Amino acid sequence: MFKTLDDLDFAGKTALVRADLNVPMLNGVVTDATRIARLAPTVKDLRAKGAKVVLLSHFGRPKGKRVEEMTLAPAARAVEDVLGVPVTFANDCIGADAVQAIAGSGDAVVVLENLRYHAGEEANDEGFAAALAALGDIYVNDAFSAAHRAHASTHRIAGLMPAVAGRNMQAELEALSAALGEPERPVAAIVGGAKVSTKLAVLENLVGRVELLIIGGGMANTFLYAGGVSVGKSLCEPDLAETARQVMAKAAESGCEIALPGDAVVAREFKAGAPFEVVPIDAIPDDAMMLDVGPETTRSLCEKLQSCRTLIWNGPMGAFEIPPFDDGTVGLAEAVADLTDAGSMRSVAGGGDTVAAMSAAGVSERITYISTAGGAFLEWMEGRALPGVEALAEAAK
Ligand code: AMP
Repeated sequence: MFKTLDDLDFAGKTALVRADLNVPMLNGVVTDATRIARLAPTVKDLRAKGAKVVLLSHFGRPKGKRVEEMTLAPAARAVEDVLGVPVTFANDCIGADAVQAIAGSGDAVVVLENLRYHAGEEANDEGFAAALAALGDIYVNDAFSAAHRAHASTHRIAGLMPAVAGRNMQAELEALSAALGEPERPVAAIVGGAKVSTKLAVLENLVGRVELLIIGGGMANTFLYAGGVSVGKSLCEPDLAETARQVMAKAAESGCEIALPGDAVVAREFKAGAPFEVVPIDAIPDDAMMLDVGPETTRSLCEKLQSCRTLIWNGPMGAFEIPPFDDGTVGLAEAVADLTDAGSMRSVAGGGDTVAAMSAAGVSERITYISTAGGAFLEWMEGRALPGVEALAEAAK
């Protein structure tokens, strides 16, 4: 399907590694280096194989111009700290600056300046891709999180030189295909988060592919409303009620059980210390909003998950940033971690908020695979082909 670092000889070669250094940053300091840490296996393996490593990445949206606040220089320093390797930074990602930085880098890893300083990157431009390809011998894509974009560094370049998946990309693709490709059944999905509108395509794809679809978070309110439940002041998208009914009808046709909350944690305000109460789902007061699933729902969902062999999770069950509205998410996360530990479930979770929720629940290490990708993870859940992954498959033919 795609080649990996094991398939080519890297000795004496320059590897152009598409990384995702688009990491959270505040005042020029990297605040969360998870994505950088995930590059370690690829960088380590390539260096052990005798390759020179050159990292390519975008950062923010400078729209084809040099915007100093969007420099990758701080990310380059973080690569040095987190991976414990010497790093040289090149002021441009193509041309003389890049060539000289690579030529003079000795044993150091080279980090090239923001790809999106050039309009050719997002335009998937052949000439820009060729200018990148000219800097090395082998292309390694290790940025699953950017694979949903058909850009020069994720797509076009793979047609111009030998192209393989890095370790992070490989792990991601293996974990995802084990979860939705040919999974062990029954398969459950948990889809939570704020709104139905952002995850409609996900729901539509999943109802035809999983046996149990747990809908939580704000998006459950729209489904409840569509079923005639009064949701008070809860976050809700009434204009999507008909769509929600269609999703439920499709689920019924394909033998997918949809699990909605049976009780709710409600409050009048979404803030720390706000008074809250637990109510049955048909008793949400008109002036209150549901901010989490109730304890009875959590208990019953944990029970349903006992018999599931595979789980895909995106989106929290409630407004988990403020306790106690994290109880549902934490309760389910602990159950999933226990089932995974026991070897009865393969669990895959992804998306920014979901990663944060797993980490807040303290179970990150106990989930089979956590994807740090946001958009790419969702597009994969939608069942769409990702251009960056397709390009690697094409190159392997
Ligand atoms: P998403 O990015 O779609 O996964 O949404 C995550 C956001 O949904 C988090 O910031 C949660 O606080 C929010 N959220 C989850 N459940 C609720 C709810 N019942 N009411 C309002 N916001 C919620």
